[in-house]
Amino acid sequence: MSRPLRFVYRHDAAPAWFDAPQVLALAQRAVQAWSPCGVPASVQALPPRTSPAEGDIQIVWTDTGSRGQFGLANVPARTLSLGPGLFRLLRERNPRYPAEQTLQMVLSHEMGHFYGLMAHSRRCVDVMSYYDDGKGQRCTLRDPSAWGSVVEYRSMLPTACDLARCRALNGP
Ligand SMILES: [Zn+2]
Repeated sequence: MSRPLRFVYRHDAAPAWFDAPQVLALAQRAVQAWSPCGVPASVQALPPRTSPAEGDIQIVWTDTGSRGQFGLANVPARTLSLGPGLFRLLRERNPRYPAEQTLQMVLSHEMGHFYGLMAHSRRCVDVMSYYDDGKGQRCTLRDPSAWGSVVEYRSMLPTACDLARCRALNGP
């Protein structure tokens, strides 16, 4: 992945309850939170009907691209897909659930893959964690009895541990 990382955000197909400046601000907050990693990065809005520049990483809303998940990073294709369908379902099930926090976590997590963190963390609290790996392996909680008692274990922004892994991968 070439440096600096240039993320561009396209608001088309976003759920109606997120507005473009709001999502852009969340993406910018994620980039800012990753900045102690030392990799230069920026986020800009991509105006409608404009094409991304060579090397840009597009943040787009697509259920196909996100494969039914909240978000999916396709690093070779330079695409970070957000899943409108799952955000819609979350809102249907619990309209009061703070979807903005989920979106912040998803953006921070998926961006982490573009910073070179391909492997997931096993500590639930890390933004680069996962719920379970599809093979029955769950992330580790300091208090295992907390499983099922809270909705979201992951931090919304990279933790000190996420940042340390990022620095180790990217060097000085
Ligand atoms: Zn991931």
